[in-house]
Parts: sequence; structure tokens; C-alpha cells
Amino acid sequence: MGIPSYVMPEYRQNPLTKEWVILSCERQARPSEFLDQPARRESSACPFCWGNEHETPAEIARYCDANDKGSWSVRVVPNKYPAVSLNASSRERQPACNDECLFRTAPALGEHEVIIESPRHVVSLTDLTLSETEYLFLAYRDRIAAHRAAGQAQYVQIFKNVGSLAGASIEHSHSQLMALEQLPQDLEREVAIADGYYRRNGRSLMNSVLQAELEAGTRVVAESANFAAFCPFASRFPYEICLAAKTAGGHFEELQAGELGELAAIVREIIGRIESMLGPIAYNYYLRPAPFDIDSSDQYDWHIEIFPRLVKVAGFEWSTGVFINTVSPEVAAKALRSLPDQRGN
Ligand SMILES: [Zn+2]
Repeated sequence: MGIPSYVMPEYRQNPLTKEWVILSCERQARPSEFLDQPARRESSACPFCWGNEHETPAEIARYCDANDKGSWSVRVVPNKYPAVSLNASSRERQPACNDECLFRTAPALGEHEVIIESPRHVVSLTDLTLSETEYLFLAYRDRIAAHRAAGQAQYVQIFKNVGSLAGASIEHSHSQLMALEQLPQDLEREVAIADGYYRRNGRSLMNSVLQAELEAGTRVVAESANFAAFCPFASRFPYEICLAAKTAGGHFEELQAGELGELAAIVREIIGRIESMLGPIAYNYYLRPAPFDIDSSDQYDWHIEIFPRLVKVAGFEWSTGVFINTVSPEVAAKALRSLPDQRGN
């Protein structure tokens, strides 16, 4: 049997660690603006800019200001180079595999979407207008709700990469969404931990942590009526931030427009503080909503994790899974907290 030059996106499991990886050859074809074009790209050549809408696959959703006819603020399109596949026929092609199987595979089924955050060629979340940021968080909510209603996915992962050091291949500000039919291993572990805590204490673990952080105050970075952000006690990276709702038990996809506006403003404010302290910097954030099959939403509360990419993950971290962090979260939080509040600017 020869070596296939192309395989459908598939999960493969490492038999030594039971960790899954996705093999997706299609993504090899995606262009990278950063390899040969370190300078800023002209908007005429950018597929995400206003006027180049035909360069993306057909739109899934669009958000517009009512008084801005003909234009758009935020667009959602399928990813042209998906890491997971919609093609259910790959389900049948999986070889049989028992418990002792050394080469376990599974079809990497799901949907991969791109959320374009502005018609203007801007880079960071802080370059968006407040109204674009609000539409972005509305889009997050609506797409999670749509995948939940469609009933195929178990979990939706939303993430944003800014800068090539953070893994972005296109400069124009965008987020990505992956609706997955298999729960990722990290989520499975987090859900089991949260579930154990809930059974023992009758309270949400995420919310207990947030309340304890608010009480202590030393690691709190920012707070609004319904949300709060802090540098986690065991931060992996300098200036890592976790943001959650003050009230336990709410699903992200059930947030109201007013709450999403408040959330958009505080996320923008936090990234603004990071940038005013460290300058324009590569960063990632991701939203962890609860998996769809959780009975009581109290067991697993949604949260957002934000981290500037100041350090490279090196040999020790790769070999042990243990991160070495050189900035204490107490020092990081104090520095970020003491910057002037720019919300609403
Ligand atoms: Zn652009």
C-alpha cells in the first residue's frame, strides 16, 4: 500500500499519551502574509477588506449598522482552509480499532468559520470601533447558538490570533470558530474537574475562583457590573488574564445584547491596557463556552482567556507540560490595574 498524498482531516491519537492531534493537509495550502510580506498589506489585496467580499466563500451571517446602508460591520464566512471537515462520508472510512490499538484515528468532523471584525484593514481588537466590537460578540453568541440548535457539534471553540507570533496567517483583524463533533481533550479534563468540584461543594468551580479573586483583590485587573477579569493564581504566561461572569450558571449563548456590549467593552479595555503597557504586541484570546451536553450549566461556567505572546514555549514546557512564568500574577495585575481606564474611548 502506498502513502496517500492527501487524507481528509482526521484525528490521530498518540498511543503513549492518549492525546489527539488533527491532521489537516488542506491547511498547508493557505497563504501566509507574514512569511514574505513583513510590511502592512494594501487593502486592495486583502480578502477581508471592504470591496473584496467575493474573495471569501459565501457569507453565513452579516452584521450592519442600521444607519449605514450597503456596508457591513462584521461578516461570518466559512474558512477557506478548514482544519475540520463537514464531509460525513469519512465516518465510514475509519478502520476498526479495539482498546489496544496503537494507531487510533477518528474523523475530524465539524465546521470552521472566520469572523471578519471590520471592513477596514485593522489589526487588533483595540482598532475596532466600540460598535464593531459589540457586533463581534453578538456574532460569537449567535454562531454558538446556531451550532447548538443544529445539533451536530458537541462544543464550539472561538479564538483570536493577533500577529504572526500568535499564529495569525492574515493580518486583517478576525476571529475563528470551530464547531467540533468530538470534545477536545483539554475540555474533557476541565469539565471532569469542574463536575467533581460541583458534586462536592454544590457550586461552580469557575465562579468560586472568581469570587475568591474578587475578595482577595490582589490579582484583579478590571471589573464591570456583570464581569470581572484577573491574572490567574497559576498563570502560565506573563500578563495572562481570565475573564468570567460574576453570576454562575449562565450559558454564553444566552447572554443578552446589553450584556454582550458590556463584555465587548471590558475585553477591549483589557487588551488596551496590555497594549499601552507592552506596546503593539502579538496576543491570543479564546472563549470557552460550556459543552452543549452539560446538564446543569452550574457545572461549567464559560470564560475568556487572554494572553500576550511575550515568551516562546521552549524545551522544558514541551517536555513536561509545566510552564515557567517569570512575572508573578500579583505584579502583572497591579501593573495592569494601575493604568488609566480607557473604556468608552
Ligand atoms: Zn484587510
